[in-house]
Amino acid sequence: MPATPAYPPHSAPRLYLDRELSEGAEIRLEGSHAHYLIKVMRIKQGDPVKLFDDRTGEYLARVSALGKRDLMLAIDGKTREREAVPDLWLCTAPIKKDRFNWIAEKATELGVAKIIPVQTERTQGSAIKPDKLRAHMIEAAEQCERTALPALDPLMKLTDLLEQWPANRHLFFADERIHATGEGSFRKALVAHDGPAAILIGPEGGFSDAENEMIRALPQAVAVSLGPRILRADTAALAAISLWMAGRGDWNPD
Ligand code: SAH
Repeated sequence: MPATPAYPPHSAPRLYLDRELSEGAEIRLEGSHAHYLIKVMRIKQGDPVKLFDDRTGEYLARVSALGKRDLMLAIDGKTREREAVPDLWLCTAPIKKDRFNWIAEKATELGVAKIIPVQTERTQGSAIKPDKLRAHMIEAAEQCERTALPALDPLMKLTDLLEQWPANRHLFFADERIHATGEGSFRKALVAHDGPAAILIGPEGGFSDAENEMIRALPQAVAVSLGPRILRADTAALAAISLWMAGRGDWNPD
């Protein structure tokens, strides 16, 4: 008798569905989801599919009926509750489109709760395409097995962001000028500041002097250094999120 396979097998396709899921539900898929499963994944009757809804959690379903352009999935049971997402926001100036898509994808994999595109004086990035950006985030969430999607806010002016800044949220401000002063140790900043957090990254051209002052004037702002080298904005975002996740997020077992 072959050993019972550990279900769901890691190869099971995993899809985000923008509707509330429940055990025992029957789901009909058509359009791009059906195309992906039928044509790309060549799914067969009875094959497993993992589903999550960013509301209740993740489920294991099976193909209960297969058409040319649509299929039915029967949900067997819930595999995981919707996760508690680490309370970190990424506030970042939109840089060139493909790189911004890349940041959104990496920030999703790394576990952020929200992305806020910030319009600054030197922002060069083209207008944000929220649907495209969200599609990248959904694909990243499906791949990295998140059960919750990060929120994506509309593009916001830096002045508005700072005016409306929540009183209880630390704003770790990545300042490339601070390293030489010996201040800005991210490690010390993480030890000193627990609780809801955000990371602010500037555009390719950096923040202007006026912006730098405006950010520092915010009581919740904590200027941090990401080392002696000038990082590209996308590298800086990735590095800062990783440092916070290891120090205050959900990367450590303790
Ligand atoms: N004005 C810079 C380039 C900005 S890099 C220049 O001299 O060319 C884009 C953004 O990445 C910066 O605004 C900052 O938020 C972040 N960043 C890059 N390198 C950094 C570092 N060593 N420390 C802290 N933040 C950094």
